[in-house]
Amino acid sequence: MRKNHAKLFTPGPTEVRPEILQAMCTPQIHHRAPECADLYAELQPKLKKFLYTEQTVFLFTSSSTGAMEAAVQNCVKKKVLNLVNGAFSKRWAQITQACGIPNEVLENPWDVAFKPEQVDEKLRTGEFDAVTLVFNETSTGLMNPLEEIAEVVRRYPDVFLLVDAVSAMGGVKIEFDRLGLDVLLAGVQKAIALPPGLTICAVSDRALRRAEEIKPRTYYFSFPVMLKYHAKNQHPTTPSTAHMYALNAQLDYILEEEGLERRFARHEEMAKMVQAWAVKYFDVYPEKGYWSKTLTCVVNTRGISVKGLIDRLVSDYNMRIANGYGDLKEKTFRIAHMGDLTPADVAGLLHAINEILGLGGPRDG
Ligand SMILES: *Cc1c(COP(=O)(O)O)cnc(C)c1O
Repeated sequence: MRKNHAKLFTPGPTEVRPEILQAMCTPQIHHRAPECADLYAELQPKLKKFLYTEQTVFLFTSSSTGAMEAAVQNCVKKKVLNLVNGAFSKRWAQITQACGIPNEVLENPWDVAFKPEQVDEKLRTGEFDAVTLVFNETSTGLMNPLEEIAEVVRRYPDVFLLVDAVSAMGGVKIEFDRLGLDVLLAGVQKAIALPPGLTICAVSDRALRRAEEIKPRTYYFSFPVMLKYHAKNQHPTTPSTAHMYALNAQLDYILEEEGLERRFARHEEMAKMVQAWAVKYFDVYPEKGYWSKTLTCVVNTRGISVKGLIDRLVSDYNMRIANGYGDLKEKTFRIAHMGDLTPADVAGLLHAINEILGLGGPRDG
């Protein structure tokens, strides 16, 4: 084990507060005992408040990818439109194909957001009954206009909107019911700032109904099976109870101590800090107007060694940022400003990067 913990400014997993790690050490309970049902029941109203919904919220003992798979398996009857403009949206298209579900991919360049007109044009064909959208592309730091796309999809009563909000949920307001979403999923190791291994997944009533009508494509991820146990405040299989304790503690912190609005405002403030810095010394990868509120993908305009920078941050400052994703490695680097990080943490990180790269001196202004 490393002697010093490097604070995580990576877009998942993110830094976890010691109180949360403590909550995970609660003595083990049995998953069919009343204590576990009580814990499950206690989580429900908090999850509903967190996602601005009166509908069903499931917990998956899997990473986000499992819930992405569940969404297409349970909600697509006819054909799904996969909107692809980054690595994770591309993954959702691959998942769809791997599951043998009819699909069409609409691809944008990775620095270009999806515009509502593009979605409208596709849905007008009447071919589709579902759309997959990655709200916040963690590979590129691009935030697609969820609100406007949801508005378009709502005009088509049979089309369900399935949203991956993995690196946004907990950092940005997403009102599940008001937007008329059908699936909204996020692993907890990003803006919710818990250790990886659990995924929160809100599902609309009509999506639960459609799942009943579809010939089962999955057991582990079946909405109808999950719903049956959900009614008893249980999970069909053995859930990660340690995560349930952690989530309960974190939702209390988010809803009662920090407050949702203040949490979202803190994310805005951190995004502004990092993006002002990135514009001053480098560049920001996605097109203007669609920069993420939870991470910034910085273009390496100075031709620095990104790996060298990351290594120095870890060895000399106990901080870790992330290299570019896939083909964007060394061409970009990513700074996460999400979860429970503070503006002071972010200021410290930017100061450290400036020291390592010799920026911010008289010549750089
Ligand atoms: C991290 C991430 C995923 C994949 O998450 P896992 O928890 O590793 O399965 C999917 N989508 C987005 C947008 C992500 O940021």
